[in-house]
Amino acid sequence: MNLLILGGTTEASRLAERLAGHTKIAATLSYAGRTEAPARQPIPIRIGGFGGVDGLVAYLRDHAIDMVVDATHPFAAQMSEHAVAACALTGTALLVFSRAPWQRQEGDRWIEVADNAAAAAALGATPRRVLMTIGRLGLSAFLTAPQHHYLIRTIDPPDDADVPPDHRLLYARGPFTLADELRLMREEAVDIVVTKNSGGAATYAKIAAARDLALPVVIVQPPARADVPTCHDLDACMAVIEAHVSAP
Ligand code: NAP
Repeated sequence: MNLLILGGTTEASRLAERLAGHTKIAATLSYAGRTEAPARQPIPIRIGGFGGVDGLVAYLRDHAIDMVVDATHPFAAQMSEHAVAACALTGTALLVFSRAPWQRQEGDRWIEVADNAAAAAALGATPRRVLMTIGRLGLSAFLTAPQHHYLIRTIDPPDDADVPPDHRLLYARGPFTLADELRLMREEAVDIVVTKNSGGAATYAKIAAARDLALPVVIVQPPARADVPTCHDLDACMAVIEAHVSAP
């Protein structure tokens, strides 16, 4: 069986590890090409957009793909929509493997918003010291709120034009520990955190640290997804894939 994993996430990498060397499944992992040095993988990878729905349809046909696992980030809405459309057009099986969003716990001071523009507005008029962890591509929305000091944590450098004037850049890739997040927030005198509700364990420590320090968190909620069979853990995902291999 030929399987295409749409990646760019920890989930995709874990699935790739599990499928490496599988005797009945030839899996390829697809990256958008956003990060400069994607993690090494034990299965073949391809890098770059497919060219919209038509491009993905052509790829699925050219490579005789039997099943697509959409393991993109919960905020990668466009790729997920394209996968739904292309799989429907080609009759390819589609499974979403994604982390569940974080749930609010007692002590959390969350300000839930729908998008980055609303997050910028939610910071308010008074200058704050913001720990900004929404990724480099969403930063330009915060140009409308230049009164704040931003400690911007990203994997790769953002474009200069996207960055609000009062900032410091910090390059790091998760996972992050609670101790590290607490130290960072204390040392930098952070008084508010901005994040996406990305779910998963690797970057949850900032949520726990903000709770411990009683800091508010402006949290952008994930976009709605199409109604597609979905797994939140690797074993369940593998079970669905294996069942597809064995299907007559
Ligand atoms: P997006 O808005 O949903 O996708 C934009 C375009 O990028 C897609 O239409 C597609 O181009 C291409 N693309 C996206 N994922 C791809 C993949 N796995 N393989 C090949 N092409 C892909 O996605 P995004 O929010 O820019 O995210 C890009 C990538 O970064 C995704 O793979 C995602 O899993 C990962 N990521 C995103 C976030 C986030 O917060 N958005 C966080 C961590 C990782 P074509 O139309 O040309 O096919």
